[in-house]
Amino acid sequence: MFEPGVRAGILATGSELLTGQIVDQNGPWLAERLGRLGIELVDELLVGDRRDDLAAGLRFLAGQGLDLIITTGGLGPTADDVTAELVAEFAGVPMVLDPALEQRIADILRGWAARHGFAGDALVAANRKQATVPSGATVLNPVGTAPGLVVSLAGGPLVLVLPGPPREVRGMWDAALGTPEVRELLARTPPLHTTHLRMFGLPESEIAQTLREVGAELDLDELEITTCLRRSELEVDLRYRSGAGEAVAEKLAAEITRRHGSFLVSTDGTPTDEQVGRLLAGHRIGLGESCTGGMLAGRLTDRAGSSEYLVGGVVAYSNEAKTALLGVPAELIEAHGAVSPEVARAMADGARATFHSDIGVGITGVAGPGGGTEAKPVGYVCFCVTTDDGRVEARDRVLPGNRNDVRERSTDVAMHLIRRILTTSAT
Ligand code: ATP
Ligand code: MG
Repeated sequence: MFEPGVRAGILATGSELLTGQIVDQNGPWLAERLGRLGIELVDELLVGDRRDDLAAGLRFLAGQGLDLIITTGGLGPTADDVTAELVAEFAGVPMVLDPALEQRIADILRGWAARHGFAGDALVAANRKQATVPSGATVLNPVGTAPGLVVSLAGGPLVLVLPGPPREVRGMWDAALGTPEVRELLARTPPLHTTHLRMFGLPESEIAQTLREVGAELDLDELEITTCLRRSELEVDLRYRSGAGEAVAEKLAAEITRRHGSFLVSTDGTPTDEQVGRLLAGHRIGLGESCTGGMLAGRLTDRAGSSEYLVGGVVAYSNEAKTALLGVPAELIEAHGAVSPEVARAMADGARATFHSDIGVGITGVAGPGGGTEAKPVGYVCFCVTTDDGRVEARDRVLPGNRNDVRERSTDVAMHLIRRILTTSAT
């Protein structure tokens, strides 16, 4: 059986998280960190800054049978910052002033005030509040001015109290892991391992069917399996804690590879863009983009070091630009239309010639919402990747979604075609 392990919940506080002004950055970051440690995140709650709501959130999480609750936010100096106080109430301990902490915060504030040219006494006085902490709590040094806290609830979960600003949460994390309370928790966390399969172009239903069929022979209960469709990529995670789980994961991964190997991008979680970047080392690539308007160039240049292989890209949106900048014959456009496999091919070859590169990419399509026809509906996009040794990867697809989706998915398809031409050349 897959053991549930150590369970955690997150309580992110801040009314601005509920109004949509600020998107929660702490929950996802903490979730990822907890996952790496093998801790299972069971709940994340977003609550406003109201006392009652916060208290209700704490009560709810404490009732979930968790081993760890992490709160973020509400540790500041103002009256509406009540998290520490509520956690103390919850733990049934008084708030006490920690003079050493008060001194540390005063030093931070005086330094800050001096750099900004005022005395800072008022600041220091106002911040006595931040040095008042639940009795018995372990204090984590401030990254900003708010200290973090580790509070044990008698017979209940450990509560890790962190500030709101994401920078401070990240800055305090290692210190939190180093506290005796968290170390004790980690010591009883069974390790969690993940086999991460990334696929492109395979419908989720195919994996579901494979799992059903393989489930008849393998004990999949040893694993926790999640499949997640992210835009054009399907990610399948096989998680296990035991040796038996590892054996099942290996067999399952081998079976998925046997059945769907041609769709498999990586088995170690490597993102596609990283893989493409690595594969492009030693090559020179030039781009001719129409409907993506330079998005493929943007995507390739997202990676540091892309100057090693990306020579350049042309956004050839109009027919004239396709002809003038990429040498696409006007007659070819006339004969087949600007959105056609023939023009995509000519754009790829043209990009290669323009940029003196060994790989060229052409993308032309109908991003919509207007401009579709019966033969070439909105979302119809033609792709071509060509190389100077005469290899060609060409596709035309009707991609789903709105204008933005079509353009983003077009860059996905193009990235995978580049990957394909580079991996087939390696064999
Ligand atoms: P401070 O001392 O800065 O007041 P605090 O612990 O009281 O720290 P909050 O007041 O809750 O923290 O939040 C401070 C700022 O941090 C908020 O204005 C918000 O911009 C940001 N913040 C808080 N929580 C989150 C979150 N979950 N995701 C992203 N940003 C957040
Ligand atoms: Mg605050």
